[in-house]
Amino acid sequence: ANVPVIAIDGPSGSGKGTVAGLLAKRLGWRLLDSGALYRLLAFAARNHGVDLTNEESLKVLAAHLDVQFNAKAGGGQSIVLEGEDVTDVIRSEQVGAGASQVAALPAVREALLQRQRAFLEAPGLVADGRDMGTVVFPQAQLKIFLTASAEERARRRYLQLKGKGMEADQAALLTEIQERDERDSQRSVAPLKPAEDAIILDSTSLSIDEVQDKILEAFAALG
Ligand code: C5P
Repeated sequence: ANVPVIAIDGPSGSGKGTVAGLLAKRLGWRLLDSGALYRLLAFAARNHGVDLTNEESLKVLAAHLDVQFNAKAGGGQSIVLEGEDVTDVIRSEQVGAGASQVAALPAVREALLQRQRAFLEAPGLVADGRDMGTVVFPQAQLKIFLTASAEERARRRYLQLKGKGMEADQAALLTEIQERDERDSQRSVAPLKPAEDAIILDSTSLSIDEVQDKILEAFAALG
């Protein structure tokens, strides 16, 4: 069967994670937060003393990641790694930077490919990341490339971290976001770029609800 996929790609802080979670809940579809897999790998590597440049060991670790994604009643999901709830700790900028580092390694991306595709199940999947529409689910019926200005993304990340009770410095976040964008779009494997058939949505001055509505409209227009 042709299980529908809505692929939402874009840089960090574009709102794609939030929007993907809300859409999945609204449609009753599964959710793939692919960035979480790279974050989990970076986090697990630190736990196991694996260097973030050791491609061979990271590949083995990626293939054996013991992780569970549990849907939460109110939407969103909790993430359990090796029995430990890591939902919030993997959101730190430090883990994000590690994720971006391991994500540049071809063997790591290859090892995580099947794991990502295994999320595809009826009645549908909302997948968010950097290469959902280009590499992981090129057959996706709807591909959205969600962007926002770097300043707006830094502001959102700041509020998000503060909301979780974490320390944050908005100027430092802006620099980190720009560095991560640079690394993610310049890398040779699966660089961050819109699929040719993606709809580009700039969320700088849109609310989460407006973004959600635009995506649902585009999906409905597919017929
Ligand atoms: O989306 P999130 O900020 O959680 O992703 C963390 C990092 O994982 C990104 O900066 C990117 O380097 C990497 N990533 C990726 N491909 C994906 C999702 C995330 O390379 N599909």
